[in-house]
Amino acid sequence: MANKNPLQHKARKRFGQNFLVDFGVIRHIVRAIGPQTDDNIVEIGPGQGAITASLLESCTELNVIELDRDLIPILKVKFDRNPGFKVHECDALKFDFAGLAQAERPLRVVGNLPYNISTPLIFHLLSYKDCIADMHFMLQKEVVMRLAAKPGDKNYGRLSVMAQYWCETEDLFDVPPECFDPAPKVVSAIVRLTPHKNLPYPAQSFEELERVVKLAFSQRRKTLRNALKPLLETLPENTELCVDLGCRAEQLGLEQFVALANQITELQKLA
Ligand code: SAH
Repeated sequence: MANKNPLQHKARKRFGQNFLVDFGVIRHIVRAIGPQTDDNIVEIGPGQGAITASLLESCTELNVIELDRDLIPILKVKFDRNPGFKVHECDALKFDFAGLAQAERPLRVVGNLPYNISTPLIFHLLSYKDCIADMHFMLQKEVVMRLAAKPGDKNYGRLSVMAQYWCETEDLFDVPPECFDPAPKVVSAIVRLTPHKNLPYPAQSFEELERVVKLAFSQRRKTLRNALKPLLETLPENTELCVDLGCRAEQLGLEQFVALANQITELQKLA
């Protein structure tokens, strides 16, 4: 039966809705964000406004992006009296974030994200990294560990390298299932992503870096000599590479992946 009261919302699975209901955790998240009066904050998936309300206590301007149109009237009733509050009814994966950024006022992005869109959304946002100051997300703990993992760590992989190419990644704290309604099946965590102003290890060709990293981790138990075989076969025989091919991908840091990709780009130019 349809919900009679439009201001009473039943969580929808297809929109990945797990609403935060623990005020202690909400405070902890907002403290980690540290919103300032003049910040240009955009919240993705505000839901019924659990984090939104707390953000509006500190900042005067807040844009929110919500896909579930049934939640829009709830958000408007709760927050429209704040003159700087604006709801965008749309899919964050298609949203043009550059439209919200202003010179000298880069975006601070916040969201308790639906887990199924978290990785594509982070990469969509990274295409706007020049107008983003930082991002704080609630994600599955497992994804946060992968984003923040360093070489040698069992969670270190393709996501770690590609995210850390663009930003500093910090695993801030865990959030247990009982802080949400409905409770998710997994533990969540808050991650902070801060885009590098200048890339510490710029790749000559980002596509080549992506290709090398993907191939290297496609068989992570194997040595690079084996995992990278399809690529190595395209290089001139006896090429001396800048990394030890006896290593496994999980032992290689971002700097080494970039150096390898750059060397391959150079070799291909000569070919
Ligand atoms: N921030 C709220 C709600 C979290 S649930 C809280 O912490 O309680 C995730 C929210 O993201 C839901 O409101 C859901 O409708 C919204 N959502 C899901 N997919 C989205 C998308 N593609 N773009 C924008 N919002 C989305």
